[in-house]
Amino acid sequence: MDKQTGNKPLDVAIAGAGIAGAALGVALSQTLGSGFSVVVFDPALGREPARDDRVVAIAGGARRLFEAIGVWERIKDVQPIRAMEITDSKLHDAVRQTFLEFSEDEDGEPFAHMVENRALIVALREAMEEAEVGLAAAGIESYSADESFAHFGVGGKEYRARLLAAADGAQSRLRTLANIKTISRGYDQSGIVATIGHAREHGGKAVQHFLPSGSFAILPLTGKRSSIVWTEETAEAKRIVALPPEEFLAELELRFGLQLGELEVLSSARAYPLQISIARSFTAERLALVGDAAHVIHPLAGQGLNMGLRDVAALAECIADNARLGLDPGAPEVLSRYQRWRRTDTVAMGLATDGLNRLFSNESTALKYLRDLGLGIVDRAPMLKNFFAREAAGLTGDVPKLLRGEFI
Ligand SMILES: Cc1cc2nc3c(=O)[nH]c(=O)nc-3n(C[C@H](O)[C@H](O)[C@H](O)COP(=O)(O)OP(=O)(O)OC[C@H]3O[C@@H](n4cnc5c(N)ncnc54)[C@H](O)[C@@H]3O)c2cc1C
Repeated sequence: MDKQTGNKPLDVAIAGAGIAGAALGVALSQTLGSGFSVVVFDPALGREPARDDRVVAIAGGARRLFEAIGVWERIKDVQPIRAMEITDSKLHDAVRQTFLEFSEDEDGEPFAHMVENRALIVALREAMEEAEVGLAAAGIESYSADESFAHFGVGGKEYRARLLAAADGAQSRLRTLANIKTISRGYDQSGIVATIGHAREHGGKAVQHFLPSGSFAILPLTGKRSSIVWTEETAEAKRIVALPPEEFLAELELRFGLQLGELEVLSSARAYPLQISIARSFTAERLALVGDAAHVIHPLAGQGLNMGLRDVAALAECIADNARLGLDPGAPEVLSRYQRWRRTDTVAMGLATDGLNRLFSNESTALKYLRDLGLGIVDRAPMLKNFFAREAAGLTGDVPKLLRGEFI
């Protein structure tokens, strides 16, 4: 353990040093200073950040949060998305007609930034050290709570905290220990992720082809590289990732197209099973769920982590508002404010991505006509496009201060 927790109760304990848990640790430590004890527990802290070919599209709100907590400038290899093109076609169509195009707004603010997961974790670990967040390379094994504290066990020892934040991922052990159920459905789809090299520059353009089997996203990375998130039925995805390299490349070219020239697969291809899962409650006594522990959604809109970072910003603000007045950071009113703030927004985004996936993963000609009509209308209406862009950036509704780039 890098920082002894001793027997003194902690103000906030965080389970999970993934992107959500680490960002929460930095935000709280920076805002509330050394008099406020924050310790992040995660067995992964004892290892180098894992090699991970996944990338995330960081929307405007999440970027402002990272800027406000001094993480943004530490992230290596950030690629702005300056334009986005959406097409709707069949796999073997010779031409993919474009139905919707977004470009950076008049202020030159990119639509989003592509960041490699590993680079984000490296930057967050540096920021946690600098902000003197307590770090413990061990997992939380048990949880119970009374009126005053969350009690939790780590490596056979018992600890107490005013608030326990569970940022322990989609399979959250703490969510189970707190007996919080989820509303979940597997999609029988998997997202194949790989890094692709290409002969020509991408110019910062992201492309999303809606194909009958699901969405196929091409996301620009630094250099002549892009990341793909390629949705297929799970059995088909397993078959595709097991193909010999030349056959994989042929399947890839069929979807990617040759507009960026010759392609080269730069990483192994991995298939991630996709699901929607939303916790029935985001809180229990002295406990708050954050990030994937609270919700997992379809990645087609690139919103999963962005929603997790909205949780971080909202929870940090709820805690800080109480702690600054010398009040209990895990009091019931802190938790109920957090729950009200985040759960409705999450359900709305979950249903929207679920609806989009159903609408587009479909061969019906009538549905194709309707969705193309819808996309065409949005494309020709600047106000609507602007609304969708702001919604995706997390800048609509009651936006937490950190997402506006303000200090809490
Ligand atoms: C194919 C794909 C593409 C995606 N693309 C995007 C995108 O473009 N944009 C976007 O916003 N989102 C995207 N997402 C979603 C995004 O990857 C996740 O939402 C995000 O990584 C979740 O972060 P997290 O910190 O909540 O959880 P995790 O990254 O799962 O971290 C959980 C941490 O908790 C630790 N842990 C587990 N159990 C315990 C315990 N008992 N005690 C202590 N620690 C514990 C683990 O070791 C881990 O470090 C995508 C997802 C997929 C599958």
